[in-house]
Amino acid sequence: MKPAFLPRLVNHPFGDPGLYVELRYEGRAMLFDLGRIDRRPGSALFKLQHVFVSHTHMDHFIGFDHLLRLFLARERDLHLYGPPGFIDNVRGRLAGYTWNLIESYPLRFIVHEASCDRVKSVTLPASTAFAPQDESERPFDGVLCETDAYTVRTAHLDHKIPSLGFALEEKTRLNVRADALERLGVAPGRWLNDLKAAVRAGRPDNTEIVAKWFADGVAQTRSFDLGSLRRDLLVETAGQKIAYVVDTIFSRDNVARICDLVRNADTFYCESLFLDAERHEATKRHHLTARQAGTLARAAGVRRLENFHFSSRYERDPVPFRVEAQAAFRGELAPDVPD
Ligand SMILES: [Zn+2]
Ligand SMILES: [Zn+2]
Repeated sequence: MKPAFLPRLVNHPFGDPGLYVELRYEGRAMLFDLGRIDRRPGSALFKLQHVFVSHTHMDHFIGFDHLLRLFLARERDLHLYGPPGFIDNVRGRLAGYTWNLIESYPLRFIVHEASCDRVKSVTLPASTAFAPQDESERPFDGVLCETDAYTVRTAHLDHKIPSLGFALEEKTRLNVRADALERLGVAPGRWLNDLKAAVRAGRPDNTEIVAKWFADGVAQTRSFDLGSLRRDLLVETAGQKIAYVVDTIFSRDNVARICDLVRNADTFYCESLFLDAERHEATKRHHLTARQAGTLARAAGVRRLENFHFSSRYERDPVPFRVEAQAAFRGELAPDVPD
């Protein structure tokens, strides 16, 4: 089965961090972090609908202006998600320009700011020179955004400021077995969506599902119980999971939060600004080493680790970072232990 998410780093591993994820079945894309994005083609960026920003250090947020310029005259609602203070950061960037003559522009930013206990949201429409509208708040439960197809979760990590880690999870896939439909003597129809919705909602096995279809222009109905259809008709496949963690310290507390967030991910994108030899420097600057990235990936049981966001002091040679991280991931290098 083809994967639903096609993730790729926006820049080389010594460049600004950022992960572009194409959502294959939706014709859309999302972006994790907003560093330099001007090397990505406009055709790819125009697919963006959701942008998640870990924190607003410059290398993670300087691409905002490029995004603004690309989308300014577009008819689009662009959702931006970030840590505490994010709404002020976005409004501050917008306040750096003069806005008149854009009353007819339909672009709207919908900005969501996640603190540990609530998510504040505000709409900033181009048509009103980005004056805030529709301010709202909801309790924070770890989920930033959810659709029928996927969920994006976040955790607040410690970078001397909050840095958001992200996990994009596809919901369980439910495919219908055509041969089983034939065997049951029923035809496909909208009732299959009801069946999938009932399974996703965790309804009990004795829930009645009514199959409705037309045969020779005559309406047909037949009742089944959810349990038998689930067993005979549906193939359930675990969804894909992509995790993204940048700019955070290897502390006991953070290790626990990261492991919870990224557990069993198919691919784990993890920063490692330093090598193990500069472990003290990493701790001082609230960053991770390659060995620590490997330690986290192994502890969280991920399938694949891709470490990135390497310090330019290493003369642009990514090999030592990859070797060290993969050795810790495979268990050939002893795991690091938080201080
Ligand atoms: Zn940072
Ligand atoms: Zn950074």
